[in-house]
Amino acid sequence: MNARVRGDFERVHGRAPEGLWAAPGRVNLIGEHTDYNDGFALPMALPQTAVLAARRRDDGLLRLHSAQGDGRVTELRVADLAPGSVPGWARYPAGVVWALRERGLAVGGADLHLDSTVPAGAGLSSSAALECVVAVAYEELYGLGLERPELARVAQYAENAFAGVPCGVMDQMASVCCTEGSALHLDSRSLEVRQVPFDLGGHGLRLLVLDTRVQHDLADGAYAALRAGCENAARLLGLAALRDLGEEELPGALGRLPAGLVPLVRHVVTENARVGRAAERLAAGEPEALGPLLTEGHASLREDYGVSCAETDLAVEAAVAAGALGARMTGGGFGGSVIALVRADEAAAVARAVTAAFAGAGFGAPAVLEAVPSAGARRIG
Ligand code: ADP
Ligand code: MG
Repeated sequence: MNARVRGDFERVHGRAPEGLWAAPGRVNLIGEHTDYNDGFALPMALPQTAVLAARRRDDGLLRLHSAQGDGRVTELRVADLAPGSVPGWARYPAGVVWALRERGLAVGGADLHLDSTVPAGAGLSSSAALECVVAVAYEELYGLGLERPELARVAQYAENAFAGVPCGVMDQMASVCCTEGSALHLDSRSLEVRQVPFDLGGHGLRLLVLDTRVQHDLADGAYAALRAGCENAARLLGLAALRDLGEEELPGALGRLPAGLVPLVRHVVTENARVGRAAERLAAGEPEALGPLLTEGHASLREDYGVSCAETDLAVEAAVAAGALGARMTGGGFGGSVIALVRADEAAAVARAVTAAFAGAGFGAPAVLEAVPSAGARRIG
């Protein structure tokens, strides 16, 4: 991979890169739609990464190429970067350069070549992987002295303000802060993280990723509306964010809200509590206890938060019926991927059952990947 990316860089940009960096996609074990409520999540990095070869330029140009792009080089003047000015995939990496400059950091141009194994649009955060790999490379090339959480904030700001996607901070924190063999307990308010050992193999377990290969159109608008609903509920309850509502206070709080906001608040509060329970079970060396929490979390996303869809519901149902210890959609919803915690010797049967259920329902075959807790963003060459 490294030799190929290096060779492609030289072919596209006509000289050698200064270095190679990688940043992973992620699956979120539990804690969905909690990050923009200042809450908790428990993501882990995937072995699939976005790889970047980069070399600084001193003429103020940013030249972008992706192995998964249309073959063309996008050439931009760093000083002219502005939200809305860059269409297509280039807005993610260009947004990071813009966001660094918005922080007052004197970064210049670069030749960049990207090559990613994170499937795009599958709810596995290929966009955050692109942003984060550019952020860590710029951090090192331009000697910025930024800590990992600050890089995640820069990447999130790029996605929010430059690419126009109102995401929370979980995807970027996972991509820069995860470590091999662990899930990441994330506090989205303080950006404090705790590495929680997640030993699948030692417990005879595997974590399947079932990519439904669908992404329903309403995702963007619905996400913004849900986010606004949560903020509205927090305001009505006199809280800074829904994170500040404990499970024990939930019944009283729900009685003070308009009916339309009740299910949203119930999901966020119970989901934050599930993150706490899941992290406790993992820390106690009982990863199989994650199973029921996953399935409960999915029910909450389906019934209360309304972000599931026929494909993700069917994948969860078929996986659990075929013996999975638990399963849930992961990522923002309306399609994307489902994770299923399975006993190692039942993994093939679960994957087959989900594929058969999809065929029976007339859905296209899901792509099956395996999630192994992997390292966060790093230099690789
Ligand atoms: P997700 O982050 O869940 O994969 P998004 O819609 O947030 O889905 O991001 C997918 C977008 O990210 C793609 O449409 C494309 O613009 C960009 N992208 C991801 N990977 C690559 C890549 N290797 N090369 C170019 N663009 C990419
Ligand atoms: Mg994304």
